[in-house]
Amino acid sequence: MTTLDSHYIDGKWVSGEGGEIFPILNPATEAQIGTVRMGTSADVHRAVAAANRAFASYSQTPKSERLGYLRALQKALEDRIQDMGQAISQEMGAPITLARNAQAGCGPRHAAAYISALDALEEEYVLPNGDTIIKDPIGVCGLITPWNWPINQIAQKVMPALAVGATCVLKPSEHTPLSAAIFAECVHEAGLPAGVFNLVFGNGVGVGSALSRHPDIAMMSFTGSTRAGAMVARDSAETVKRVALELGGKSANLVFADADLETCIPASVQRCFLNTGQGCNAPTRMLVERACYDQVLEIARKTTEAQRVDDPAKEGSHIGPLFDKMQYDRVQAMIQLGLDEDARLLAGGPGRPDGLDRGWFVRPTVFADVTNDMRIAREEIFGPVLSIIPFETEEDAIRLANDSDYGLAAYLQTGSASRAERVARQLRAGVVAINGQGVSYGSPFGGYKHSGNGREGGVFGIEEYLEVKVMPSIDAMAKAGRFAAA
Ligand code: NAD
Repeated sequence: MTTLDSHYIDGKWVSGEGGEIFPILNPATEAQIGTVRMGTSADVHRAVAAANRAFASYSQTPKSERLGYLRALQKALEDRIQDMGQAISQEMGAPITLARNAQAGCGPRHAAAYISALDALEEEYVLPNGDTIIKDPIGVCGLITPWNWPINQIAQKVMPALAVGATCVLKPSEHTPLSAAIFAECVHEAGLPAGVFNLVFGNGVGVGSALSRHPDIAMMSFTGSTRAGAMVARDSAETVKRVALELGGKSANLVFADADLETCIPASVQRCFLNTGQGCNAPTRMLVERACYDQVLEIARKTTEAQRVDDPAKEGSHIGPLFDKMQYDRVQAMIQLGLDEDARLLAGGPGRPDGLDRGWFVRPTVFADVTNDMRIAREEIFGPVLSIIPFETEEDAIRLANDSDYGLAAYLQTGSASRAERVARQLRAGVVAINGQGVSYGSPFGGYKHSGNGREGGVFGIEEYLEVKVMPSIDAMAKAGRFAAA
């Protein structure tokens, strides 16, 4: 049992000022593995005050010093990969191999990408008209993250803030405090000045909303559901904060008959089920050209039936449970809805997989003959549930892909480079993956429409935390005798 009773404020762990005790549950066993004390508005005030004090000097540190901190953080995260993987697996149910290699592993990989981006960033330059541009850190940032890829999202916010000289208060998901606490220990180990990074545990309506409303916070960066993101934007409006939102998705995967189906369909189905389908950019809506529809259904069915679901404590490429009961109930309800909407159940279905009676395990499920107006085609399910929709022409496919409230990612499978080029350019999504090839660390990640309004990663992520200042060239003015004392 782990007891998290304090918050990381002003460079040390300090006891929470009241605040309810919240259980940390292992989704594979349903057992309680620890507790975390929720923060209060008093804790938020203390953390924001510390970040505000630290901003005065940290915002003035030279780039070389900030690069040093990021390198130290990268090293600290690398040293803790085993612990971090274990914590993530136990608190949100990702199988240990995925939790360690991909979930924990992305921390140091993001650090490396932010180091390159900061290194290349021109923080000051002269415009062709002679004026000087100076990029300033925006101020104190409030950072709110979800539970599904907990370290990925923490890294994608804390690192760019620290890179540019901003200071921050992080509120991680109340469901994944163990990995967040290890991240704070890594920041401490990296030797950042006190108050630059602060962490307050807590829930959305308490700590989250107190951050969004706080007058001394200049920017909120939020990752989570579209519903909560809209509330953060509303709460932030009163104090005119900059708000960056990374929200939900219902990403289309366009499959053309000229694709290498034997390779791309198993990979697409497994990609949809990755992290037990709990991925904002999961390809959950597969659009399939009629000419290869039956063949695709057969491969998708076989792949799904072969998908192993097992204990996340075991090494391997199986999938684990959903992260909690609420998510389990929601996914079950959505599978039932698919049946009620008369989609054709191709594999899986309601209930738990055989032999897994304890824990929030669900059956990987595929529906065929889905139409784009069904709720299982429009709503984010956040579980291993794939909806397959047939299409007739390329124009049809693009129209269906773009007919969504969301626009986070899109996937494309085709044997034709010219089609890949033509179609990818017409998709209204922030990231397009082609024939299984995604994009690299350091590239921007974010969505169109209800999927959000910001970009994380590399130089795009860094720019979010900067203000732009312009002034006349002081050198030129001095040469022109515009200063009396010169
Ligand atoms: P959630 O919206 O319930 O919670 C996310 C975070 O917001 C948590 O820390 C929560 O405590 C906080 N929160 C909730 N209500 C709040 C409020 N009113 N004010 C301030 N903070 C509040 O989401 P979740 O269940 O943790 O995560 C799953 C969702 O996150 C999915 O919709 C998924 O698509 C999305 N997501 C998006 C991305 C992306 O980069 N676009 C990445 C991962 C997850």
